[in-house]
Amino acid sequence: MAAKPRGAKKAADNTQDSGGGGSAASAVGLAPGLYIVATPIGNLQDITLRALDVLRQCDVIASEDTRTTLKLLSRFDIHTPLVSYHQHSGGARARELVERVRAGGAVALVSEAGTPGISDPGHELIRGCIAEGLPVFPVPGPCALVAFLSAAGLNTSAFVFAGFPPRKPGERLRFFQDLASETRTVVFYESPGRIRATLETIAEALPGRRVCIGRELTKLHEEFLRGPVEEVLHVFEERRPRGEFVVGLEGAPVAAGASLDLEQEYHLLMSQGMDDKAAVSLLARKSGRPRREIYAAVLQWKGKRGDDA
Ligand code: SAM
Repeated sequence: MAAKPRGAKKAADNTQDSGGGGSAASAVGLAPGLYIVATPIGNLQDITLRALDVLRQCDVIASEDTRTTLKLLSRFDIHTPLVSYHQHSGGARARELVERVRAGGAVALVSEAGTPGISDPGHELIRGCIAEGLPVFPVPGPCALVAFLSAAGLNTSAFVFAGFPPRKPGERLRFFQDLASETRTVVFYESPGRIRATLETIAEALPGRRVCIGRELTKLHEEFLRGPVEEVLHVFEERRPRGEFVVGLEGAPVAAGASLDLEQEYHLLMSQGMDDKAAVSLLARKSGRPRREIYAAVLQWKGKRGDDA
């Protein structure tokens, strides 16, 4: 971790209104701090001018994947020293980097692609700096989640980002069942190896739900697939899923909002094709009431409507 001479550094402007980072990355040098630098998710031209400045001028770049970062740096003729910082680095590396910032260093954090800290390493280092009262500057840019939402055509007035869905089938099913009455758009990341199983689970938990899939965003084979989950699943039954994926689920109809009582929610779940057993489990989990109590109530609700018990 060889450091650059510190002569060119400018004092940090840490007043609350300055937005520190705005002045921290300038042609004359960087203020000490941790810089969270977004890098391209495919198209290298998506790097920002400010990201290049910061990567060029910082003392050290902490990188999730040094091979990928080296390619990016060599493309832009940047020769700043690199250290690796990934999910298995452990607390010692985070502490070392926090120390480096405390000593007056400018440390840039980059992930393999996109924005560090968004389903990527960074949390411990960022929290470490904040706990020490050290400045943390966002250097915004590409992020698969935001790129996806910007073009998906889903309602973005409110959305939920769910990271990666659970891998175990049972947990994954419950995860999507719990989203049955979520009125906001739900966005998550998924791997090519699991996308089919995930779409099958959505079709089981939320039959007919409209989804949008963004594949290989900003890359040569960028593609958006939109429609009911069963139709989109069919596409990947015909061809093997390849590349990187972001998935968005349209929210449940607004009338299905959170203020509905359990009976209304039960009828909503039925209208969405859920079976009694799954609905009882879901409502019991959400309300914290015993399943048998919910089941008894379901029998009454059905009776009121003259359905088959
Ligand atoms: N921090 C990153 C960001 O800001 O986009 C995300 C990191 S997460 C470990 C990686 C996941 O992001 C991939 O598995 C995929 O779901 C999604 N992703 C990244 N690049 C993508 C791209 N070009 N197209 C579609 N999805 C992408």
